[in-house]
Amino acid sequence: MGDPAVGKTSLIRRFVTGKYDDNYLSTMGTVVSKKNMVNSSGDCNVKMMVWDISGQEEFKRVHASGFSNANGGIAVCDITRPETVEHIRRWLTDLRKHAGPKIPAVILTNKFDLVEADPARVITAHRELKTLGCRILTTSAKTGYNVEKAFEVLMDAMLTDGTGTAPVESDFLKLPEQFNSGPELLDYLSLRFCMSVGDQEMGMYILRKQLADMKIDFQKITGEDITNLIVPLVKVIEDLMGKDSAREFRKDLIRAKSKCIF
Ligand code: GDP
Ligand code: MG
Repeated sequence: MGDPAVGKTSLIRRFVTGKYDDNYLSTMGTVVSKKNMVNSSGDCNVKMMVWDISGQEEFKRVHASGFSNANGGIAVCDITRPETVEHIRRWLTDLRKHAGPKIPAVILTNKFDLVEADPARVITAHRELKTLGCRILTTSAKTGYNVEKAFEVLMDAMLTDGTGTAPVESDFLKLPEQFNSGPELLDYLSLRFCMSVGDQEMGMYILRKQLADMKIDFQKITGEDITNLIVPLVKVIEDLMGKDSAREFRKDLIRAKSKCIF
């Protein structure tokens, strides 16, 4: 988790594939990657499933639902942008709210390659972050510095600290008074769709593919785009889960659309 463009996707790519590229591809919803690891004492094989979330404010339901099933968290900030450092507190509060106060988490101050010559900057940032009760690591997805280590530290914490107790959250799908933007409605639609599919990973995969097929940019999605999405998505649910599910899904989306003020 972390603000947009702090390097979440790049860190995961570096960790999973060992690669890095400078192009910024904004992530919609969640993308899951997997990597097999061995713990530091060498007696435990772990399949690490890493959920890459979008930093967009509008995706708060998808975040919250992902958080509630998490066994650990990585909060990332961009060491060159102080506001992203300040926001770490908020991301952790959110994670702890949904995943339980004891969830293991690490904080990464990323893009260290850009400030290597300025250690005072890092020290100042870390002073603020130390109050948050997590291990802090300086990383660079670009050079690979500390990336592997960061995931190892988290894995060890996950294996030793326990997972914390996650409260059962069922109100992500409560209809709000209003939806203020296309992406905000898409956030609701995404989670509602994933609930019907019964699998957030597959749900997001199908949804991303549908958006790509219809050449819809999720960041600029309009009410009309969403109306056009309903029919094919209802069809997917009908094929996968049957008519009753599809009907419920359609009904909920139509109710949601009536709350749009954009
Ligand atoms: P996300 O929105 O948090 O997933 O951020 P991305 O991983 O897409 O990265 C945003 C931008 O920052 C991209 O242009 C990356 O190439 C760049 N970036 C990510 N990590 C680093 C890093 O460690 N060092 C530098 N210099 N740039 C980085
Ligand atoms: Mg990303």
